[in-house]
Amino acid sequence: NNVNADEKVYEIGTDVTFPPFEFANDQNQYVGIDMDIIRTIAKNEGFKVKIKPVGFNAAVQALDAGQLDGVIAGTTITDERKQKMDFSAPYFKTGVVMAVGQNSSIKNFQDLKGKRVAIKTGTAAGDYAKSIQKKYGFKTVTFDDSNNVYNDVTTGNSVACFEDQPVMQYAIKTGAKLKIVTKPANGGAYGFSVKKGHNQELLKKFDAGLKKIKSNGQYKKIVAKYLGASA
Ligand code: GLN
Repeated sequence: NNVNADEKVYEIGTDVTFPPFEFANDQNQYVGIDMDIIRTIAKNEGFKVKIKPVGFNAAVQALDAGQLDGVIAGTTITDERKQKMDFSAPYFKTGVVMAVGQNSSIKNFQDLKGKRVAIKTGTAAGDYAKSIQKKYGFKTVTFDDSNNVYNDVTTGNSVACFEDQPVMQYAIKTGAKLKIVTKPANGGAYGFSVKKGHNQELLKKFDAGLKKIKSNGQYKKIVAKYLGASA
């Protein structure tokens, strides 16, 4: 209709598969906590979004190249990223955990000596693994997609992987044959992002919208839909 025709359409990058935050459902539609948050905020604040599931690292690169208006991809807010990105208020807590095969005897970082560890390109969990790699003497292998990271462990090519706690817990709950063996490290939170100094009106609308859905119960409903009411 005429009113909606005037609404601005923002191109928003996201990951290919990072459940429960973004993933394709049976109808090949992108759903998840991030998808519901951005769509609900867009609806409430009067703008439109076009979701581009290009992958996590690709989305961050495309944002920096000015090819996307924003990114919502379970992106951890870090000081390093703040050099190139402006972040919204935090909307979900996270931390980095190590997971191993269900029957693995690996219990800690010391047990990784001389072994191979699977990580994901350009991620906070991958950076954390690399930061302790020398100390504990393990090798890393990198994948662009979380599924390939988990598969490298379940097939036995790698002995462990590093991933965000909420995402690893959800993957295990939904069938990944892995177990978490460490407490969360490098605690932080997810934020929506734009390229530094760009799309400030979009960032403001997101922050205003986030505040609104946190106070009117919509945020709680979204999280409960994917994680249950106790989350
Ligand atoms: N939270 C992690 C990061 O920001 C991973 C994000 C992702 O893989 N989609 O690096």
